[in-house]
Amino acid sequence: MKTASQADATLCVIPPDAPLEGFASLSIPVYRASTIVFPTAAAYRKRHERAPDGYTYGLAGTPTTRTLEAQIAALHMAERTIVVPSGQAAISTAWLSVLKTGDHVLLADNVYPPVKQMATSVLNGLGIQTEFFDPTLLDDVRQRLRPGQTTLVWVESPGSTSMEVCDVPSIAQLCKKAGALLGCDNTWATGLLCKPLTLGVDIVAEALTKYVGGHSDLLMGAIVFRDLNLYRRTRALLTTLGIGVSPDDASLALRGMQTMSVRLQHVSRVAEDFAKRLASELNYVVLHPCLPHCSGHSLWCRDFKGSAGVLSLRLDDVPEGAIDRALDGLKTFAIGASWGGTRSVIAPIVLSSDRHVVHSKETTTYIRISIGLEDPSDLWADLVRFSTILDKEVKRP
Ligand SMILES: *Cc1c(COP(=O)(O)O)cnc(C)c1O
Repeated sequence: MKTASQADATLCVIPPDAPLEGFASLSIPVYRASTIVFPTAAAYRKRHERAPDGYTYGLAGTPTTRTLEAQIAALHMAERTIVVPSGQAAISTAWLSVLKTGDHVLLADNVYPPVKQMATSVLNGLGIQTEFFDPTLLDDVRQRLRPGQTTLVWVESPGSTSMEVCDVPSIAQLCKKAGALLGCDNTWATGLLCKPLTLGVDIVAEALTKYVGGHSDLLMGAIVFRDLNLYRRTRALLTTLGIGVSPDDASLALRGMQTMSVRLQHVSRVAEDFAKRLASELNYVVLHPCLPHCSGHSLWCRDFKGSAGVLSLRLDDVPEGAIDRALDGLKTFAIGASWGGTRSVIAPIVLSSDRHVVHSKETTTYIRISIGLEDPSDLWADLVRFSTILDKEVKRP
């Protein structure tokens, strides 16, 4: 019989080591930590020397979050990536790490609406001027850029819901000349379909909530950097703000990544097919950059490797009631916000009050459609059902 070297209460708190030798698993472990233990007191005193990449405290990262960050960085050919608790947090904290009072920020008018809220409420409140530009007009960016004062230009391409594609390489050249950083929300494309850093972008933000998570059960964002100093600044700000990601959530994102490429291949095929048939067979104005009539189609052909599974229908002058009754008749699509999951999701969106320079009609409703992994024939039957109900109620032009 062995004799214990420590008292029972201590044995309860400090378990013996189980051997790791021979345990070669394919999965990434969930490493949980607040405290990180140091080998010596001197090492603890010098712990700040481990920043920005080393482990010092759970908030600043664990091997689980670092693995996810390294995977996203690799996909983007980036220097570093930081994961944060949401896509919105990726954008807001990336901005806060590069902006100060007196700066001027230019935003494409088709960016994710809560991002505009961040601009007009938080940034303006901090004495940072914000201005919107038409994402389809390079000249509009050129005219609004203020060399020496514009610190950041922000685009989202294709833009939320209305799907315009920006000429990112040309905007990057303008920014470089004016001394401004260029940031890009790449949520729609993911690093698989577009690598904005290779087009001249400085900071990429993505909502991992969408295609990386991929199952509608996770909120997370990523900030992707080409420059090590910018990364250092943002990592330090996040630690100061007290923002970090749970290793359990990072583990779900790592799992989502495993199938993202195959999921995207499927939804892109179905979305392209539906985009064409919604236009040709059901007579809708369809917004998806794979369609030659869509704004930015040629830019998309040049800068993107393919299609994601999100598209919109544009309905002008159709009463809300009729649209809602048609949506309520759907059997397979779920009605809700967000997208990029296994379930197909649809939502009616009105943009008029969100647009500053690109005027969207008060009476325009966009039907945003995210294609999931259900059998396409059930989804198509749903869209035909939607169309039949709508056509019974209103005569579309
Ligand atoms: C969803 C979304 C976001 C925000 O992501 P959350 O994780 O929901 O905060 C940002 N940008 C785009 C383009 C999005 O679609």
